[in-house]
Amino acid sequence: MIKAYAALSPTSPLAPFEIERRPPGPEEVQIEILYCGVCHSDLHTARNEWKGTIYPSVPGHEIVGRVVAVGDKVQGFKPGDLAGVGCMVDSCGHCHPCHEGEEQYCEQGFTGTYNGPVFGGENTFGGYSQSIVVKESFVLNISHDEKDLASVAPLLCAGITTYSPLRHWGAGPGKKVGIVGLGGLGHMGVKIAHAMGAHVVLFTTSPGKAEDGLRLGADEVCISTDAKQMASYANQFDFILNTVAAPHNLDAYLQLLRLDGTMTLVGAPAEPHPSPAVFNLIFKRRQLAGSLIGGIRETQEMLDFCALHSIVSDIELINMDYINTAYERMLKSDVKYRFVIDMSSI
Ligand code: NAP
Ligand code: ZN
Repeated sequence: MIKAYAALSPTSPLAPFEIERRPPGPEEVQIEILYCGVCHSDLHTARNEWKGTIYPSVPGHEIVGRVVAVGDKVQGFKPGDLAGVGCMVDSCGHCHPCHEGEEQYCEQGFTGTYNGPVFGGENTFGGYSQSIVVKESFVLNISHDEKDLASVAPLLCAGITTYSPLRHWGAGPGKKVGIVGLGGLGHMGVKIAHAMGAHVVLFTTSPGKAEDGLRLGADEVCISTDAKQMASYANQFDFILNTVAAPHNLDAYLQLLRLDGTMTLVGAPAEPHPSPAVFNLIFKRRQLAGSLIGGIRETQEMLDFCALHSIVSDIELINMDYINTAYERMLKSDVKYRFVIDMSSI
């Protein structure tokens, strides 16, 4: 048995809990978890906001740690190596998306690192725990300096969830890109879009975050609650990445897209957004899209890109028993800009 933190019901705070981990099979890697990031999806799941949470629920899918044992068929990792695990631990491996390296869109449904069996099977327990055993093909290499390890953890979800759509929709030199919301995902989006060479405008509801936005890599900051400031950005954006975790008026951002521009939603609020006005789409052939994390190959590409560009997350390191307070602060948009749990504190 190992130590973990679990929610036992939608309304119970997270609390100490013991779980079992299997010994590593021939193709599996056993990782001692050193740090785990706190994603807003952890909160949505622990509180059953998306429905379908299986209890006990052990969240955590921004996992970094040290390999302690490997199965005899494992070639890419050995004990002592640093390793990362993101949102997925398995997928069917033979459908079209899996062949394309887009396991997150697996036609059978990928197995989540926690609350895994969306389509049946056993529950999975995430990174708010001392160790994890994962198939080698779902384990990531970490090439950042070891001293930055805690700040690398959020790349495993917040990093890839912003990197993948920024790449897919072509963020780069000559492109004007908006990032909506400066939380865990948003601050990674600002850093990555800037490193890709785009002109980055941050949209935030928190005037107090404007200075940080510029420091993190935004070229401009727009306070999205100020209608005048919003109007001054009309019809300019090639791409807007919307990371907001709550329902809000999408029209305010659709109006900022130029001809053929796209706004992609990665924020996944529990309640739907009010439906946007059709005219805001048809008049400039604008597109409203969505995107889910990123595949394993692309996650490795993102980690290597971030190592090359010295990109890590801005974090607040916390002890495990601070997690319920961290959730409350996350709900108030009071995170600068990702909580990461020091797992030695469990
Ligand atoms: P977070 O750290 O809480 O950041 C969300 C940000 O949204 C806040 O910091 C705030 O930024 C803004 N915001 C919050 N409430 C708002 C409101 N009522 N109106 C306007 N803006 C508001 O959350 P996160 O971890 O980045 O996650 C964001 C969302 O993405 C969550 O729903 C999460 O489940 C989802 N997610 C999706 C994927 C995917 O694959 N698609 C992956 C990971 C997470 P400002 O203070 O700057 O306004
Ligand atoms: Zn996440």
